[in-house]
Amino acid sequence: MRTQVAIIGAGPSGLLLSQLLNRAGIETVVLERQSRAYVLSRIRAGVLEQGTVDLLTRAGVGGRMAREGQPHSGCYLTHDQQMIRIDFAEACGAKVMVYGQTEVTRDLYEAQDALGSPHIHGVENVVLHDLDGPMPHVTYDHDGQNHRLECEFIAGCDGFHGVSRNSIPETLRREYEKVYPFGWLGVLSETPPLHEELIYANHPRGFALASMRNPMLSRYYIQVPLTDKVEDWSDEAFWAELKARIPADVAQGLVTGPSIEKSIAPLRSFVSEPMRYGALFLCGDAAHIVPPTGAKGLNLAVSDVHYLSKGLIAYYTENDSAGLEGYSTQALARIWQAMRFSWSVTTMMHRFPEHDAYDRQMQRVELTQLATNPVAQRLFAQNYTGLPY
Ligand SMILES: Cc1cc2nc3c(=O)[nH]c(=O)nc-3n(C[C@H](O)[C@H](O)[C@H](O)COP(=O)(O)OP(=O)(O)OC[C@H]3O[C@@H](n4cnc5c(N)ncnc54)[C@H](O)[C@@H]3O)c2cc1C
Repeated sequence: MRTQVAIIGAGPSGLLLSQLLNRAGIETVVLERQSRAYVLSRIRAGVLEQGTVDLLTRAGVGGRMAREGQPHSGCYLTHDQQMIRIDFAEACGAKVMVYGQTEVTRDLYEAQDALGSPHIHGVENVVLHDLDGPMPHVTYDHDGQNHRLECEFIAGCDGFHGVSRNSIPETLRREYEKVYPFGWLGVLSETPPLHEELIYANHPRGFALASMRNPMLSRYYIQVPLTDKVEDWSDEAFWAELKARIPADVAQGLVTGPSIEKSIAPLRSFVSEPMRYGALFLCGDAAHIVPPTGAKGLNLAVSDVHYLSKGLIAYYTENDSAGLEGYSTQALARIWQAMRFSWSVTTMMHRFPEHDAYDRQMQRVELTQLATNPVAQRLFAQNYTGLPY
């Protein structure tokens, strides 16, 4: 088989890249390890930056999001019993959209089906070949047979555990990593959200987040030690702990119910540079991971796709390779800004085992500054709603 751009991975970055390229008349083939049903059932991100909303709309998949998504013009940070509202609209004139990653993925699959774009699910043993040579290609197993996909470019959109990043020679890669000493226990429940806006709580018992997907679907998280297992947490224990970490007058409105999904995600910051090697371009989680505190993971995957799709479209339609040459540098400049924001919010809002009274005082001062200083509010709001592309 032959195509112009082989895309490894059908997560949000792979599907969106394929959609934008197909609409510009560029052929793609998407290779995905899992089944489509599995990809669609993964519960992950839910807060979309304005730039993400705009790019999804330009890709022709903004219709349902505009009808069913919930625009948010602020969020709350809490410290013990104090509620601090950051008004995005007032601070920087922007907002975010609450619309689940599962819904984004579903919309992209439907749009790709309408374009007849080839997606091959259930592939195994994907190997990338001749990345710096004249014949880049991908081999993989499917339905008991080995296949060869010839192409001009390969987009590595296969997430943190994919094969693409490790196909770049180790001597050419530089990796930066920070592993946090805790995880997030997340629960999804078919109950009305605690509040109309997201609440990020800094509490002596640990961090908590009250988020949502729609008016009858809530997403809650609490910080837990890395040694905890999902089985250690009954629904009752989870609700009691969440309630204890949210200001009491708000927590009394919490509607609890059975969890329909419960999982623990470790928190990590990771960047691999460069994001290009010959014909291979890395996109999204394949090249970087952020702790979810700043709601940046999915949004960064989308900004990578913005730069890469622009570069590929300019190459194919105008024979201009400047965008591809500059892809890694341009994408990484924005990624490091989001890394800083995610790290700073994580540091400000969590209990670290090594934190002493001084560190906790620093958190208090930072939160006080956010409560009282319009410049600090503006910086937070600009970063949260998304820096420009
Ligand atoms: C539990 C969890 C919660 C999260 N919560 C948030 C959040 O609240 N906010 C936020 O912004 N972000 C969140 N994220 C991060 C966000 O979901 C990711 O940043 C986003 O999914 C990145 O998209 P991607 O397409 O780059 O990678 P992925 O979504 O990981 O997609 C990669 C795809 O590649 C496939 N693949 C992997 N290896 C191969 C292979 N060898 N061959 C073929 N296919 C392969 C995978 O099956 C997958 O479908 C969360 C992530 C996790 C894991």
